[in-house]
Amino acid sequence: MTASPIPQEAAELEVRAVRRHRHLAPLRHPFVTAARRTEAVEYVVAEVELAGGVVGQGSAAETVAVTGEDARSILTALDGPLRGALEGARGTVGELSARIAAALPGATSAKAALEVALHDAWARAADRPLVELLGGRVGEVMRNDMTVSLEEPATMAQRAREAVAAGHEILKIKLGHDIDEDRARLAAVAEAAPAARLRLDANQGWLPEQAIEIISGFEADGLPVELVEQPVAAGDVEGLARVTAAVSLPIMADEAVWSAADAHRLIEARACDLLNIKLAKTGGLRGAIEVADAARLAGIDCMLGAMMEPRISITAAAHLALAHPAVTMIDLDPPAWFATALPRGGIVQERGVLRLSGGPGLGLAPLRPDEDPAPPDGGDR
Ligand SMILES: [Mg+2]
Repeated sequence: MTASPIPQEAAELEVRAVRRHRHLAPLRHPFVTAARRTEAVEYVVAEVELAGGVVGQGSAAETVAVTGEDARSILTALDGPLRGALEGARGTVGELSARIAAALPGATSAKAALEVALHDAWARAADRPLVELLGGRVGEVMRNDMTVSLEEPATMAQRAREAVAAGHEILKIKLGHDIDEDRARLAAVAEAAPAARLRLDANQGWLPEQAIEIISGFEADGLPVELVEQPVAAGDVEGLARVTAAVSLPIMADEAVWSAADAHRLIEARACDLLNIKLAKTGGLRGAIEVADAARLAGIDCMLGAMMEPRISITAAAHLALAHPAVTMIDLDPPAWFATALPRGGIVQERGVLRLSGGPGLGLAPLRPDEDPAPPDGGDR
């Protein structure tokens, strides 16, 4: 296949079929935040087959505590309104993405799976890496972080030491449980990894006054903290703005930003200094680009993050992160948590530095239904 002579955005695509399969992947050790604890990730792979036979893939993981979506609801959305919107449809990648976005309210993870699959198919049909069609280059690299989940201080210190030994310079520390315990956790991590740059994530766990008190304390202690993510409840924009005004460390919105409209509202209210973009919140790449564009106009930097999602989702996020100038940070460590590294290809990480493997589309091998197999009980639910 040769590169199309017509502009890729204008190429007409026809979707022949939409398929999906279920998977279950064990984690190496439990992932714990102020909102949830996860030991194995159930996920769904969506496939988009174009007329001509090219197949793209995307994925969605269960993240009930964040998006409200479990495997059943993701499958229901894919089998019903999402398949109905896309199967047999013709249009440009932008037009087809708009059909996905409009197919049903919410269901952002399910939409992201299908929309990423569409983009993978689009780029494969053009025989180009997706990053190039998004305006970037395969050769770019970014420094990734490693998450230390919310555990006892000694366990967190041990995880921090392991991450630094593996070459990580940036650690993302999960806090937000109890402010006295949070102080002890951060002190233990800072002592165990004195050279690491620290990103803190309270996952909405503090009240505004608590957040101001604890963050001011970290500043007074001179800890090497880069940013503090979502200190207060997602819906409390006024509280977030109060924290942002009261402290000097950069405050990042995560659970508070799902769309460009949210980004505009937060920027208008001066509620944060930074935004965390996740495809599972924005419903895929197009929504994520809209958030990043809004941030760029406002002069705000973004992090491209992810839920505890499988490698397909992380690879899609990496293509966008390397293409968009407003994305200056990545938090794409889930592949290091999964016990399996499936499917092959897509991304390569060495000593904390992430790059794309190259190749058409996402650059991934197709994930077979028998890889990360789902338990037999629910195969057809
Ligand atoms: Mg977060």
